[in-house]
Amino acid sequence: MSTQPLLEQLIEALQCQPGIGPKSAQRIAYHLLERDRERGLKLSRVMAESLQRIGQCGSCRTFTEAELCAICASTQRDATTLCVVENPMDVASIETASGYRGKYFVLMGHLSPIDGITPEVLGLHLLEQRLQAGTVQELIVATGTTMEGEATAHYLRDIAGRAGVRASRIAYGVPMGGELEFVDGSTLSHAIASRREY
Ligand code: ZN
Repeated sequence: MSTQPLLEQLIEALQCQPGIGPKSAQRIAYHLLERDRERGLKLSRVMAESLQRIGQCGSCRTFTEAELCAICASTQRDATTLCVVENPMDVASIETASGYRGKYFVLMGHLSPIDGITPEVLGLHLLEQRLQAGTVQELIVATGTTMEGEATAHYLRDIAGRAGVRASRIAYGVPMGGELEFVDGSTLSHAIASRREY
């Protein structure tokens, strides 16, 4: 058991969030205790349940409570087109911004051997198996335009090439060095519509 007072533990725990330093954590902790205990309790319940029950889709690797996410389970989506993105948030952005009707594969990051993020960590062997299976005809590579995103895109093009699958890269309007999550909806929509083979 920690002998640290609960208030200090709370302030420290709140700092696990990106962008929340000691000062903000203190402000949030005081705010919850002073005037928002009810919603604070709800947050802690939902957070605990989410962290315990949300897993990854067995097919595309995005976050889901079920074995397959809604997009992979849907028969209305075009299984011949597969869009590869870095993060689940990118799926949400593309879904909101564009009329894309294909399926996805979520890498949960990008290649970065220095940080131990190898092709295996990104599930690229699973992706290769899926492409080899023959249903997918076009692979849309929607990784970021950062250096790592570009390196990942090259690797993906090679996998597609080995499987005889056409690969295209979204480019238009996505700034160099950019992460998809910071690109606005209409730009993203245009970027997908004007993808080109590479
Ligand atoms: Zn899925």
